[in-house]
Amino acid sequence: MEVRVRYAPSPTGLQHIGGVRTALFNYFFARANGGKFILRVEDTDRERYSDESLQDLYDTLRWLGISWDEGPLVGGPYGPYIQSERFDLYKQYAEQLVRDGKAYNCYCSPERLEQVRLEQQMSKSEVQGYDRHCRNLGESERAALEKQGIRPVIRLKVPTEGKTTFTDVLMGDITRRNRDVSPDPVLLKSDGFPTYHLANVIDDHMMGITHIMRAQEWIPSGPLHILLYEAFGWEPPLYCHLPMVMGKDGQKLSKRHGSTSVRDFRSKGYLPEALMNYVSLVGWSYDGQREFFSKKDLEDLFSLEKINKAPGVFDYKKLDWFNGQYIRQMGDEALTDMLLPYLVDAGFLTLPLSDEAKQKMASLTPVVKERMKVLADVVELSRFLFEEPTYEDVTLFAAKGVELPVAYDALQRAYEVLKKGFADKKETQLIEEELTELAQQLGVKVNAVFMPIRVALTGSTVSLPLFDSIGLLGQDKTGARIENALAILKRGVV
Ligand code: GLU
Ligand code: ZN
Repeated sequence: MEVRVRYAPSPTGLQHIGGVRTALFNYFFARANGGKFILRVEDTDRERYSDESLQDLYDTLRWLGISWDEGPLVGGPYGPYIQSERFDLYKQYAEQLVRDGKAYNCYCSPERLEQVRLEQQMSKSEVQGYDRHCRNLGESERAALEKQGIRPVIRLKVPTEGKTTFTDVLMGDITRRNRDVSPDPVLLKSDGFPTYHLANVIDDHMMGITHIMRAQEWIPSGPLHILLYEAFGWEPPLYCHLPMVMGKDGQKLSKRHGSTSVRDFRSKGYLPEALMNYVSLVGWSYDGQREFFSKKDLEDLFSLEKINKAPGVFDYKKLDWFNGQYIRQMGDEALTDMLLPYLVDAGFLTLPLSDEAKQKMASLTPVVKERMKVLADVVELSRFLFEEPTYEDVTLFAAKGVELPVAYDALQRAYEVLKKGFADKKETQLIEEELTELAQQLGVKVNAVFMPIRVALTGSTVSLPLFDSIGLLGQDKTGARIENALAILKRGVV
């Protein structure tokens, strides 16, 4: 049997980590088994639908390099793959169920349903939900209601006795008493629109889906879906509900933990390879040891048996670490291309790049490459190269435990050393040695000498390694900034 799996998101918001994890697991499972990965857009909720979300879905999958074998844009033998283009089909099937006595028309007004709800609430009734009022309407009653022009909804006849069981690959058998299943949920609304349950089950069947991998929050819908398959007389697919994605505090991952939309990760400069690698490890592992997996690796190695039953923890720090590793594996030229948009956005560079800017980038990239967690870090790391520092707080010049006049003196003496030039590695090395000696002569720690230079060059106490910064700025700018800093310091010191 050919494996056919699907990712079936509702375009009602941006793609987030949990959704993308579901997409990836389905995609890898299909690839690992020589099966098909299908994308289906479940846009039955027209109120929450947005074009932006749909576009974001396509963009996100494309960015990750996840292509679908069948689905919107590419088509396939079971299309259309957008539910709003299949409304006629759902209607036909719902009406079929009514004819077969598995579903029925309900003519209750919203007011009546609200009344029922209030009464249930007041009497603290155990039964919640629809009171099945129309389930046993006689032929004449129905005819009368039709005559009044009331457009009915179609409800499923959920058995009131017995139990329903479905088998989940991870969780085993899950059984519910039928009387605990939602009492006769609506399948088709009065405007002819299907509800999620109806469209989802019909499509999974029509599209030949063999395995349903989806978030665990859908487990409560399981028994209802099985009842629908039974009503239609169809064989249900295999289920594999995926463990939850949590934050480090054990709560379901949400905005409270940080960004969750892939778009945010993308704009901060996470690489698709890193995000894919890390997200695949949230709730899945190969052997509990190995951490690095390329897309190709996962396409070969993914298996359902290795999915964890326990919830997966999404650790932002760990993702940063992965991203840093992937950045450091990149070639300088490719990385430069990816950094440019950030520098242009920050107003540091304009396109097309001047020759001078190209040169600057050629020396900047290898230095920042070692220190970035995300591509956007390049902005703060390189700001000093493109903007003159302002020295608002002169106390920064003094390293911890150092008096300002000492810092001033150290900077002045350091400047004499730096003036000798540092055109190549060897000269730079000598300068570094001399500055270290200078600290000894002054009877201070090296940092007391390095800090005022660092602040003079970058305006900040944290920066790229000092000698890399000096090299990037070049002789002239280094000299000019130190002179400027000395002048400002002098005013503050005397
Ligand atoms: N449209 C549902 C969602 O947004 C699909 C659930 C399922 O995979 O059955 O999650
Ligand atoms: Zn009714």
